[in-house]
Amino acid sequence: MKVGILGGGQLARMIALAGYPLGIRFIFLDPSIGACATTLGSHLRGDYHDETVLAELAKRADVVTYEFENVPANVAEFLTARTQVYPPPKALEVAQDRLVEKEFLNNLGIPTAPYATVDSFNDLQTAMEKVGYPAILKTRTQGYDGKGQSILKSVADLKSSWAKLEGLAAIVEGFVNFNREISIIAVRSVSGELAFYPLSENVHQGGILRVSESSCCDSQQIKAEEYATRLMKALDYVGVLALELFEVNGELVANEFAPRVHNSGHWTIEGAETSQFENHLRAILDLPLGSTAAVGHVAMVNFIGGKPENEDVLKIPNAHLHLYAKAPRKGRKVAHATIRTMTLAELEPLKKRLIALADEADDS
Ligand code: AMP
Repeated sequence: MKVGILGGGQLARMIALAGYPLGIRFIFLDPSIGACATTLGSHLRGDYHDETVLAELAKRADVVTYEFENVPANVAEFLTARTQVYPPPKALEVAQDRLVEKEFLNNLGIPTAPYATVDSFNDLQTAMEKVGYPAILKTRTQGYDGKGQSILKSVADLKSSWAKLEGLAAIVEGFVNFNREISIIAVRSVSGELAFYPLSENVHQGGILRVSESSCCDSQQIKAEEYATRLMKALDYVGVLALELFEVNGELVANEFAPRVHNSGHWTIEGAETSQFENHLRAILDLPLGSTAAVGHVAMVNFIGGKPENEDVLKIPNAHLHLYAKAPRKGRKVAHATIRTMTLAELEPLKKRLIALADEADDS
């Protein structure tokens, strides 16, 4: 069985690592020489819009999936006409545009922050009357890891934030004073089998995920599963999906969803019976899903901008290091490490040691 992946970054790499024991082989479409997944399979080097390479990918792969959601709609359609593509292109279409996404979530009864569309400076002024300060101005498309976002604290921030957008379509959304950020990693197979991981509790800095911890028996688990189920059924979804949520005074407010394996689910490699990467493959190949049960207490720490010496991570008891084979660059995720322990008390000090190493290695 051969799986084609659009993108050859660390997510594609971890999908491939999970697929090898199941006898699955991979072909990656990625324009960059040395994209970090490509040592694990065949590399089709070319532009995502190039129909010749896309046709070759469709011919050589039994199923095509992707590691990023900004796959252009016409590319997804081109592939769908030739082979099986999961998750379905509809999920891309919704997740790519923050306005469409928020409307879609709200129509399913999944609450979001208040928002308004902004296509001109005039719109922005009017929108602020509806949304109120503080708020966040975000580009509708192409934004990830906090990119294309600025915080509006008062009317004095409007002009400079608008200028930064350089005319891109945007939305403004109310700043959510959350108690914590969580995400649910959910999976649905071709046959419609559903499974959910225990919630991830996430800490972001500067819009980038730093730490994720699996949250066993969380009081929000059932509500989060219900929202993820609504979303996946409405999209006739196949594969892993991550729904990012804010918890505000006991209520859940959706931020966004990712139609792919997700950084806040990396802990599942060591911390769950079956990882999100293996379950994504099982789902798109219509194999039975594996158990999502947690195995112990787990925390995952991202190494961003740079990474510590391997030895410094490995000497922390219970630490598992994942290198992405990517050159360090400011704001770039280059590796992560996961700690798994049998008790919560053991987890805390080890997690702190990992975070201290990550902070030292971070160049920003
Ligand atoms: P995003 O790219 O939309 O996922 O945003 C990245 C991070 O910025 C989120 O995980 C939050 O930590 C923060 N953030 C985004 N939108 C909001 C909001 N409306 N209110 C408060 N924090 C936000």
